[in-house]
Amino acid sequence: MGVKDVEADEHGYVYATIPATTSKNVPVVCFCAHVDTAPDFSGSDVKPILHRNYDGSPIVLPDDANQVLTTEAYPYLLKHIGKDIITASGKTLLGADDKAGVAIIMSLAHWLIQHPDYTHGEIKLLFTPDEEVGRGTEKVDIKRINASVAYTLDGGERGTMEDESFSADAMSFYFSGIPAHPGVGKDILVNALKIAGSFLASLPKNEWSPETTEKREGFVHPVTITGNAEKAVVDFIIRDFETERLAVHEHRLQKLAENATSAFPGSRMEWVVKEQYRNMKTMIDQYPHMIEYAEEAYRRCGLSVVKEPIRGGTDGSKLSFMGLPCANLFTGMQAIHSPHEWIGVEDMELSVKMLLELLKVWEEKS
Ligand SMILES: [Zn+2]
Repeated sequence: MGVKDVEADEHGYVYATIPATTSKNVPVVCFCAHVDTAPDFSGSDVKPILHRNYDGSPIVLPDDANQVLTTEAYPYLLKHIGKDIITASGKTLLGADDKAGVAIIMSLAHWLIQHPDYTHGEIKLLFTPDEEVGRGTEKVDIKRINASVAYTLDGGERGTMEDESFSADAMSFYFSGIPAHPGVGKDILVNALKIAGSFLASLPKNEWSPETTEKREGFVHPVTITGNAEKAVVDFIIRDFETERLAVHEHRLQKLAENATSAFPGSRMEWVVKEQYRNMKTMIDQYPHMIEYAEEAYRRCGLSVVKEPIRGGTDGSKLSFMGLPCANLFTGMQAIHSPHEWIGVEDMELSVKMLLELLKVWEEKS
């Protein structure tokens, strides 16, 4: 295409530069997408199907007739009647998450190279592996990117924008019982599995869990339990948008674990907290322009901005804390991580247009 400094490194990252076409001193902007797909469902041998001029009727995926996309299940399909959409064939993901981001960035690069008169600052392109397993930024070379801000193209419905993620810790509880031969265990044996069980049973049923919370509410969530009568380990993930609240959740869990342990005389409990990631908003807020400019670009494309906090983490949260503040912009991808995954062609085109506007805003305001 004529893009500069293109390199795929040994870790699977792809870096590239589109040189500036303006003499103004515009901050360097990076656009980023991930090349891996979700492990939840097969992503190999994908057979994408382009449905032209979608008429609103149910779409039966040809390789598995049980897989049917309907407007009842996916009301956003209604906005695509008369337009083109892409689905998989029934046996795999489509992988729009995040091939859509890759396609959008490549279309943008292609258009920019073809239109050297379009004025913009320097642009860095970054494609990462392993995002879906939370390791997409592990080997990234931030210095090499050398950008002021970044935008990931990994969002959903047109108009959505994400500048906030959970803050996240992991917490593990180690219960030790007292071992004895079960035949002669009377008044001696203390079973660690039963302490762990009673601890889990003491968690509230109607609050404080992924099953019972939404929007801006935090939660604690047991993810694994392992062990035997002698030792048992329970691992939790702790999530909240307010980083300070993590300690409150952890203290409350610790108390429950202590209560459970105290009902088993002679047993012991230890716990460990590990930081996982932090709400990227703390970092993004130090660069208010990056969101303002993105909002302006959305408006110039006739989109109203819908901001929703991500009830999870993204590469963007990690990049932000590595010194590259990073917000997430829409691609159009829908029903991700499932065989129903689909995307509207028009949404991807709109995303490219929005990025062009975004580059223009950065250039104008510099
Ligand atoms: Zn993704």
